[in-house]
Amino acid sequence: MIINLRELRRLDHAVERDGTLELPRVAKENVQVEAIQPVHAHLSAQLAQGLCRVEGDLETTITYRCSRCLEAFDSPLTAALDEVFSERDTGDEDVHVVTGDEIVIDPYIEQAINLTIEFRPLCKPDCQGLCPTCGTNQNHGSCGCEKRTVDPRLSILQDLLSNDNSL
Ligand SMILES: [Zn+2]
Ligand SMILES: [Zn+2]
Repeated sequence: MIINLRELRRLDHAVERDGTLELPRVAKENVQVEAIQPVHAHLSAQLAQGLCRVEGDLETTITYRCSRCLEAFDSPLTAALDEVFSERDTGDEDVHVVTGDEIVIDPYIEQAINLTIEFRPLCKPDCQGLCPTCGTNQNHGSCGCEKRTVDPRLSILQDLLSNDNSL
């Protein structure tokens, strides 16, 4: 998606831009992301005091891989974009310097998506994960493996008792 500064200067009011873009790199660079649907962007660009501000909403659907049970699941994602551009170096690191009349917004959209995706996605809040013994997905029922969980309170008691014995 491109914002044309010459057009903005000529119109002297905000310009709206709607577009859809493919960002396949998001799935390649994030192991927990299986796939990403085309991103719908609704942007508004405005010039004020030599600065061009581009704001908008981004919408897509992400197919995540659950970090506990490794099953794929779809989740809607919305992100906000808010970037400021200038043709001159303002010294402000939050203001991106542009050369020429066109601002290519795609990398900023990709960045906003990357900052919004979940790092440890869960298919559901109480996902039971995989059995550590046999690898069965425990959301689909128990595999019958013996669960050897030691009660932490019990282990503290055991430690205390063994210390007492050594005295
Ligand atoms: Zn899961
Ligand atoms: Zn098992």
